Order: sequence, then C-alpha cells, then structure tokens
Amino acid sequence: MRGRVTLVGGGPGREDLLTLAALRALGEADVVLYDRLSPHARLHHLAPNAELVDVGKRPGHHAVPQSDIEALLVEHALAGRHVVRLKGGDPYVLGRGSEEVIACHAVGVPVEVIPGVTSAVAVPGAAGIPLTHRGVSHLFTVVSGHAPLTETELGHLAGLGGTVVVLMGVNSLPSLTAGLARHGMSAEMPVAIIERGFHSDQRTTIGELGDIVLTAGRARVASPAVVVVGEVVRLAFDGDANAAELMQRAAAFTAVAT
Ligand code: SAH
Repeated sequence: MRGRVTLVGGGPGREDLLTLAALRALGEADVVLYDRLSPHARLHHLAPNAELVDVGKRPGHHAVPQSDIEALLVEHALAGRHVVRLKGGDPYVLGRGSEEVIACHAVGVPVEVIPGVTSAVAVPGAAGIPLTHRGVSHLFTVVSGHAPLTETELGHLAGLGGTVVVLMGVNSLPSLTAGLARHGMSAEMPVAIIERGFHSDQRTTIGELGDIVLTAGRARVASPAVVVVGEVVRLAFDGDANAAELMQRAAAFTAVAT
C-alpha cells in the first residue's frame, strides 16, 4: 500500500479541542511525529497502532531540525506508512506546515492537511479576550515575534487601529512595544500576555504598552505565550484581579475624558 502524510492541526494543547477529523487520522496512523505544543499526553490511546516520535522543539533548543522532520515524514511515507504529523494550533499559522506539504509534493507523497484551532484566536479567548468587538476593533493581525519586525512593518501595525496578536513574542516584547510606541501607539494601549493557554496553570498578565515589559519581567512571563495588544484587552474577563483593576482604571479614564 502506498504511504501518505496527514498534517494535523492539534489545537492549543487540550485534547477536547482536537477535531473529529484529527481523531480519525490519529486512529488510522502508523507513525505520529508530534510537536511539543500539540496535545500529546495520551497519544498512545488516540493513536493505538502508531509508533510515536517526539520531534518537539523548545525555544532555542531545536530537538529535531525542520529539514530532518521533513526527511522523516517522506521516509516513513515512502516505506508505505500512514504518517500523521501532529502540530500545535493550525498547521498553516506560523507552523511551517506549508514547508512540510512542499517536501511531500516534491517526492510525490500524497498529503492532506487537517486544520486546527489556532492559539492566535483561542488562547486570548481562553483569557476572556475577544479579538474583535463591535465598536472597539474590527480587525486583527497575527504576527510572529520570532524575528524583529522592520520599521515599515511596525509603522503599518501601529497605524492599523486594530488588535495585534503576537505568537512567539515573549523574547521580542521589548523591541515590539518600543517599536509600536515609536510609531505613535499610545503608551496606555492595553496589552495582555497569556501563558500556557488551556493548561491548568494558564496565567494572564495585563499592563499597558508603556509598562508591560517591566510587568512581564517582574512576573517572569515565559514562553509559550500569546501577546495581545489592543483596546479589546479592556474587555478581558477571567476573574483575574489585574484585569478587573485595569478595566476599572479604563472606565475611570473614559469617564474623565468624555
Ligand atoms: N501553529 C500554531 C502556532 C505555532 S508558533 C497555532 O496555530 O497556534 C508557537 C507559538 O504559538 C508559541 O510560541 C505561542 O506564542 C503560541 N502558542 C501555541 N500554543 C499555545 C498555548 N497553549 N498557550 C500559549 N501560547 C501558545
């Protein structure tokens, strides 16, 4: 039988956020190559017939280089296996899924892509932050914080007037916030950082553009985390005292300003 690859978006890490299509693919898999941020705690149960391979990456410690992952995918598929590549979130949102699809196409291996719940939207939601809200923000932009943004990009982002969502943004938070401020974003623009979304130790840290670097440093905020910059953060509700305090201050500010 001819092998094939299924790229599966595993969602933000909680098993019940896997899709039915993802569960079906896992159930049929001969091999699963899984990432650190994918829901992998009970893979032996979800993919009972599969060999499980951890290709997880930690920031700064690339467990298995991308080129090796692609070589593994192709190698297993050419040996006639059904390979599931289980990724965190959605494969096509800052997840290098398209590179893996291209690698399969290059050698004629059939590949299917199953979308997943992206952390860019779901993790803010888990902290009670909607990315859009009528009258507050009608657009959002998802940005990678992996490499520094150019001045042109920062200028456009600051000028858009919508919600900015940053993945892989903990280390680059100082350059991002300074860049947005330099391009005219208000120092009082609310910012939220949600660490380990959907896990039992999920935590939200809230501040403003002008002080979030200090606040995040004090709280020892660490990856994986989603950063949200925008007025929608004022709508946050997760029972978090800091969020409540921020909203009170925002309400007082609005009352004085109008
Ligand atoms: N394709 C993925 C994103 C891959 S980039 C998706 O669609 O979600 C990896 C980044 O995603 C992390 O650095 C972090 O910014 C974010 N992320 C993924 N899962 C997360 C989680 N459960 N909690 C917080 N951030 C998460």
